Amino acid sequence: MKKKVVIVGGGINGLTAANYLQKRNFNVHILEKNNHIGGACVKDTAVIGKKVFNYPKGATVLGMMQKFIFEETHLSKFVETYFPKSPKLVYFQDDLEPTRIFQNIDSLQNELKNKWNEKGDVAGFRNDENKVIHYLQNIYKKSTIPSISDAENTLGKKTTELWIKGSAYDLLNHYFTSEKTKLYMGMTVTESGPASIFQKGTAFTIPLMDSGSIFNGYWGFVKNGIWEITENLEKINKSLGVKIDYSVSIKKINSKSQKIHLENKKLDYDYLLFATDPLTPSILLQDSKKVKTINNKELVGTSGKVTAFFKNPVIWKYPINDNSLDTSFRFIFSNSNLDEFEKSSQSVYKNRKDYEPGYIQIYPEGSAQRKMGNDEGIEKLILFSKNFSFNKESKDLIECKEDILNLLSKHIVNIDDLIETKFLTPLDLKKSFYFPKGNIDHMTLSGDQNFNKRTFSNCPEKSFFRYFDFNNIYYCGAGSFPCGSVAGTPGYMCAKHIINFN
Ligand SMILES: Cc1cc2nc3c(=O)[nH]c(=O)nc-3n(C[C@H](O)[C@H](O)[C@H](O)COP(=O)(O)OP(=O)(O)OC[C@H]3O[C@@H](n4cnc5c(N)ncnc54)[C@H](O)[C@@H]3O)c2cc1C
Repeated sequence: MKKKVVIVGGGINGLTAANYLQKRNFNVHILEKNNHIGGACVKDTAVIGKKVFNYPKGATVLGMMQKFIFEETHLSKFVETYFPKSPKLVYFQDDLEPTRIFQNIDSLQNELKNKWNEKGDVAGFRNDENKVIHYLQNIYKKSTIPSISDAENTLGKKTTELWIKGSAYDLLNHYFTSEKTKLYMGMTVTESGPASIFQKGTAFTIPLMDSGSIFNGYWGFVKNGIWEITENLEKINKSLGVKIDYSVSIKKINSKSQKIHLENKKLDYDYLLFATDPLTPSILLQDSKKVKTINNKELVGTSGKVTAFFKNPVIWKYPINDNSLDTSFRFIFSNSNLDEFEKSSQSVYKNRKDYEPGYIQIYPEGSAQRKMGNDEGIEKLILFSKNFSFNKESKDLIECKEDILNLLSKHIVNIDDLIETKFLTPLDLKKSFYFPKGNIDHMTLSGDQNFNKRTFSNCPEKSFFRYFDFNNIYYCGAGSFPCGSVAGTPGYMCAKHIINFN
């Protein structure tokens, strides 16, 4: 008889786990609270004039996914992607011309030397990072348990200390002399939440965020929008026989009798996977001690998102009269050194401020769509911005959105073409996506919640994805190893662990 797996949560991780388990002879049933799947990888609509436009409500760009997951799930048959090979462009305050982040290491070393007076070892950094990335990609694929001793055996003690156990601050200072290089290379440390760059274990986030293999560590776009990933995976899963219930309200779960109590019925399970935020299982399991334990973890997020709609394609001041870099990712930094970077991220965390400018990552969604042959008659520019506190909704922080748009306006010619914006703060993200404290990774990638410590298992060396000590209950949402993103890696790894037990 096929074993029954119930998956709570139909985001990218629940859908990925379902795909692998259903194909390996389990009977999979997804229970989703919303009336649609997708979690934070969904579309929303904006009505502009009399027209309705889709835009990515949460996640926008694809990059952390493993190529084998894209292919093995068969997403690759249905989803068209594009990633820009042109250099990324970085602006610091008062820069009119950006610094170009070339993919080629020699060109990058030269550019950083000329623009930022970088005298360190850019090539050494990239080469060592690639070794760590390669090691991580092997862990993902083989679904092995992340362990410091294994890392030391494979990468050596020095590399493990620097790249996995150490602080981002020490890692960046080891390779670089220029504060600007350190900021650019280290910005992902606070991407999901206010991890302190001085904390041990934060170095690991740097190679982690480059460890997707779909575009060799780079980031790119999905034709129509990133929601095509979750919507297509839903269709593929249904065709495999996965059952999906929407708008489900789980009343309680009895872990002894292995029964889930819904409004009108009870469901049995052999395995129960939570692909939600990490707090939800403890609430549904009515375990107040575990609710407290999880609430004491670092859950807070500091990311905000402005989606800007332009009536015409955005015209950048750099390069002039040349659109070859229109699909390049651009970054605007308000900090000029690591100390300022730390101060801004920590000041919102400690609730001293509602908003403190850190950096803006600009994703040229509209240009990329046109590149893929999808001209929607509107230009979308996504401004993923740092740092917001968890205190206020976007409606109470309109002046912060204006600040972000002002920074953008220095670099484009046609700000007057801006016709609509959508703005989300961490508090909005909690309300939209049920993240406990608005963190896009469900919980911060701080040193104590990274690599081998990104687990809820009471016995991680045996069963890394188990939820505390509950029998046959697992957690594989974005709060588990390796992290969130539209990747599905935790869902895949957890499914593999269950498959391997059987
Ligand atoms: C604004 C924003 C921007 C982002 N940008 C990017 C990006 O550009 N690229 C990228 O790769 N990632 C990005 N991310 C992160 C990425 O979207 C998430 O890390 C990822 O979607 C998490 O997937 P998940 O499946 O673990 O969880 P989720 O997507 O959170 O899915 C969890 C699911 O569980 C359901 N659920 C919750 N409680 C219950 C319950 N009690 N019963 C039943 N179902 C329940 C939810 O409704 C949801 O569908 C962004 C996120 C946000 C919010």
